[in-house]
Amino acid sequence: MNSNYQNITENAYNLSNSLDSKGKLATYIPELANVDPSKFGVHMTKVDGTHFGMGDHLEKFSIQSITKVLSLALAYKIVGEKLWDRVDVEPSGTKFDSLLLLESYKGIPRNPFVNSGAIVICDILISHLDNASVDFLEFVRDLSGIPDLTYSDQIADSEKATGYRNVALCNFIKSFGNIQNEPNVVLDFYFDMCSIEMTCQQLSHTFGFLANGGRQLVDGRKIISKSKSKRINALMLTCGFYDESGEFAFKVGLPGKSGVGGGIVALYPHNYTIAVWSPKLNPNGNSFKGMKLLEEVTTHSELSIF
Ligand code: GLN
Repeated sequence: MNSNYQNITENAYNLSNSLDSKGKLATYIPELANVDPSKFGVHMTKVDGTHFGMGDHLEKFSIQSITKVLSLALAYKIVGEKLWDRVDVEPSGTKFDSLLLLESYKGIPRNPFVNSGAIVICDILISHLDNASVDFLEFVRDLSGIPDLTYSDQIADSEKATGYRNVALCNFIKSFGNIQNEPNVVLDFYFDMCSIEMTCQQLSHTFGFLANGGRQLVDGRKIISKSKSKRINALMLTCGFYDESGEFAFKVGLPGKSGVGGGIVALYPHNYTIAVWSPKLNPNGNSFKGMKLLEEVTTHSELSIF
């Protein structure tokens, strides 16, 4: 077993960076098309608090769907197991914004990480919190240790202007009775949530609690129970990469979550979290270089949950 993570990560970074820069920026959200496609950063945080990074790891990017893990954590904490009456825990095998399976499953999304599932989670948070938008931001500020974290109006507005599929998803789910609030209110919150920006360093710190049995790395404070943390990790492993979730488990072997901003966060329970960012995406909407880097890290460290 080789535990020299820093060397391994550096080698993985250099190797992935030298690859033909395949992939395409997400252009369906206009603001994301303006990002420099050559950006590439990685940051690893160990559960003992030590951390290191390289490349553009201190530059902020749009975390997009990675936020869905944090909204799930908050909703699960509040609602408990009743949550699963509204959203299932099965891989979808479809693209992140697919409407396909909602008809067959009567408005119950396959899992909380496809857009439909995250939209239902937003609806649940709105029903249970005084001000979901403010309270969610407070939750993420606490997890990340970034007291002045805000939503990015520029990114949220850009997506609000063009997010037709998400509007369709929310209305379709409402037609089955699985959205309780007004669709435009739910969608505004959903787009805000996706607009959060963080650096790789901040992201790897934020996800520390999921590598640490539900407890904050800095002070051991309990965020969610061990069992909830285990289940969220299981969902990341089986559903974190849409119809490429099997491939990620196969090649990387860690729970993880991607976003169309080109970020990926993955974690090795009781060991480390790692966040990587490279904006060019493969056809499944996952960061091309990010996937490669993580594959190299787990291959050469010979450490994965398997
Ligand atoms: N905000 C994006 C959307 O709703 C999130 C998608 C993603 O990161 N996969 O389309």
